[in-house]
This record gives sequence, structure tokens and C-alpha cells, in this order.
Amino acid sequence: MHPVLADDLSRLPELLQSARDFAAREVAEIEARPVVQRDKAPDPRPLPTEGAGAQGALSRFAASWAPGFAATAGPRYLGFVTGGATPAAVTGDWLTSAYDQNAAGGDGSSAAALERETLGWLRELFGLGEAHSGAFVTGATMSNTVGLALAREWLGDRRGIRVSEAGAAALGPVDVLSGSPHSSIPKALSVVGIGRDRLRTVPVLPSGREAVDVARLAEALEALDGRPAVVVANAGTVNTVDFDDLRAIAALKERYDFWLHVDAAFGGFAALSPEHAHLTDGIDAADSVCVDLHKWLNVPYDAAVQFTRHRELQVRVFHNASPYLGLPTGEPDFVHLTPENSRRLRALPAWFSLAAYGREGHREIVERNVAEARRLGEGIARVPGLRLLAPVRLNVVCFTLAGSATEERVHALGRAVAESGEAFLTPTFLDGTHALRAAFSNWRTSGADTDRVLAAVTRAAGESEA
Ligand SMILES: *Cc1c(COP(=O)(O)O)cnc(C)c1O
Repeated sequence: MHPVLADDLSRLPELLQSARDFAAREVAEIEARPVVQRDKAPDPRPLPTEGAGAQGALSRFAASWAPGFAATAGPRYLGFVTGGATPAAVTGDWLTSAYDQNAAGGDGSSAAALERETLGWLRELFGLGEAHSGAFVTGATMSNTVGLALAREWLGDRRGIRVSEAGAAALGPVDVLSGSPHSSIPKALSVVGIGRDRLRTVPVLPSGREAVDVARLAEALEALDGRPAVVVANAGTVNTVDFDDLRAIAALKERYDFWLHVDAAFGGFAALSPEHAHLTDGIDAADSVCVDLHKWLNVPYDAAVQFTRHRELQVRVFHNASPYLGLPTGEPDFVHLTPENSRRLRALPAWFSLAAYGREGHREIVERNVAEARRLGEGIARVPGLRLLAPVRLNVVCFTLAGSATEERVHALGRAVAESGEAFLTPTFLDGTHALRAAFSNWRTSGADTDRVLAAVTRAAGESEA
């Protein structure tokens, strides 16, 4: 063994202790440091010939790289939809690395069984029935990709083609219909060979809504003349957190032949709150469902879950058996269900957080985030230089400048907020208007944080007027 490596092995407990001390300091200071950093990356250095040992690497990281890392895990990083990591989730994540299990299954470990238990808990949390089975993947984009790969296989069945064998070309053109799809949907369509151009957006409801107009969706399906299609329903849009009427869309299945994929990346968590659970009514009827976990479950990157009622199609698309072994039977290993073969046990952080806080603990996070989003929305509505672009439907506040909201001025407002170090919001473009979004999905965000965000936004808006 190389002497530096041997030395690390002999001091492993102390090394883990240093890493723990360092991480504990960083997390404790997260409230005090600027939310985002600019231009703090050191110049790249050449590959070391002789290593510095783990302690040396930690010192080098702490001195040159850590200062540039953003406080994405903190309470006032409200860009995109960004969750943090609960204490239990961090614990689970550290242990995931320490154990270094390959959760592909079939390896003489109970790790895959732990993933199955976690999937069962999540299914229940999101109001899905026993007909749905799932697997962990790296994010909602991958979850959407798996769902659309299954849709592709299903369409093939309708046309008497095994797409997983014959290829997407054999399928011919496909119709994918959606009201306000997330940008990851066209990306997923590109990956699965259906193609970005096959996504047709269906008109949404009038008056600033992002939810699909179900009557118009029915017309679009009618116009297909019996040709099977794919419908992507959206349960929580990123700009205004609008929800398609899942129940009404599912009811269309009685008249039209389509695969229903529901992108509930973060909106799926509405199911945890009695006040908002109705928004996800009907989700169980979906053929495939996407829910992100590194957003509102507050587990570390990267984790999401995909569910489907069509496991046999999933095995067909993703199985990794040699042809002469045939398809796996019984409860398939995850290696036969997911795009990866070898895979991290990313269920463990989710298992820890659910074991530690339960349904009630996670409901409290969701409801507090929603309450704080509402309060920020009310505050922004009172600032003369600003206006809300949509009602705060759940956990996102979408707003813009009351006066001239050019791209330049709105982006400058976002930059001024970021430069204050107090908060981070991301720009968007909604209904022809440039705007900013503040998305609440972090477990630590408190009323005091919302006050600081509102103060920073108000100050920046005042400067923008001046
Ligand atoms: C975030 C998000 C995605 C993509 O999620 P990743 O985890 O970044 O892959 C897809 N759909 C919706 C609605 C989202 O909010």
C-alpha cells in the first residue's frame, strides 16, 4: 500500500472526526455567510504527483475552494427550487458513503431491501396506491426520462412494435401533449429518441393560469383520430406552482388512448398538507409519476423517485440480463429497473429523514415553507416599486418591477439582491414579462429569514427606482 494511503488508513477515525468538525463549522456558519459567492474559484492547479494525504486535501479544500461555495443548503437560497439537507438526511448521506453499497441488488446485502422499504413510505406519502412500484434515480429529469421511456415502450405495444428491441425509429412520430411542461421534458424526449419537436403545448386556462385547459386537451386528443399519445400533466409549475386537474385528465382515459405521465417534481409534496392535498387528487391514475427528493424532501443531491404502474415495461426497457438468461422474474433487482447498473444507495438519506421526522415532521416543513412564501408575497405586494405576477399558490413568489420591467432592469434587481448576500432568487419569463422567483423549500427557513429577504428585495427595488 502506498505509504500516504497506509497512513490515512491508520488514522481513519481521526480523519472522519476532522471532516465532521469542518462540516459542523460550515453548517453552523451558513446563516452568517453571503448566500452566493462570485468569482471565488481558485485557478486550476496541475494534477499532484505526490498526494498530501486526506488531512492535507482537507486543508487545501478549506483554504482555496470552500470560500467559494454557495449557501445553497441555507434558509435564504430561494433560487430554482432548492432544498437543503435535514440533519438526519446528512447523517444518512454520510453513512451511504461510508458503507459504499452498490444498490443494484442481488449482492448479498440488505441495502436493496432498505430502498424498497423507503419507496413504500414515499408511495404512501404521495398518495399512490399499491399498483405503483418505483426506484430511486438521480433527479426529476431522470425520473421524467424513465417515465417517457416507458411511455415509448407502451406506444410501441399499441403499434405492435418492441421499441426496446427495434429502436425508436421503428415507432415513427409520436404525439406528446402538455400544458406547461418543465424544460426537462423536451430534454427527456430528446434522450429517449421521441424528439423535442414532438412536444405540442396545449393552451392553458385563461387569466394567468399555467394549468392546462382540459377541454382543449380533449380536443387535441380527439384530433388524433384514435392514435395513441402521451400526455404530460404538470403538478406544480416552477413559476406559479399551478396544478393541472389530474382527476379530469385521468377521466379522459375513458375516451382516449394515452399514457399519462405526471411531473410532480416538487408539487407532489402538496399531498402532505391537508389544506393543499386536493391539488394532487387523481395522481394515482397516472401511468408514471416523477417526484424529486432533493427539493422538498430536503435530502442532499442527488435523489428523486420514479413510480409506474407498468413494471413489466420497465423491465423490458431497462433489464440488464444476457439474452440467454431471459427476463428477470419475481421482484426484479434495481439493475433491471433503472438507467444505471451500479448505483449509490441514495435511498438511505431519505430513509433517515423519514425515520427521524416522519410524515408530521415533513408536513411541518411543507406548511411552514408555504406560510413563509405567502408572507413574502404579502410583503412584496405592499412595496410600491414591485408587483406580484401571480397569486402565491403554494411555495413560490413570482414578482416583477411595477414600472418598466425590462429584462435588464429585472435581472439587475436579482443581481442586487444576490450581491447583498442576503438572498438568492432566480429570474424567469412568464406570459411575456420578465420576473423573479423566490421558491421556499428549505427546512430551516424561518419568519426572520423571510423578513431579511423582504428587506433585501425592498432595498434593491428602491435602488432600482433611484
Ligand atoms: C426541478 C424540476 C425538474 C427537474 O429536476 P432535476 O432534479 O433538476 O432534474 C422537473 N420538473 C419540475 C416541475 C421541476 O420543478
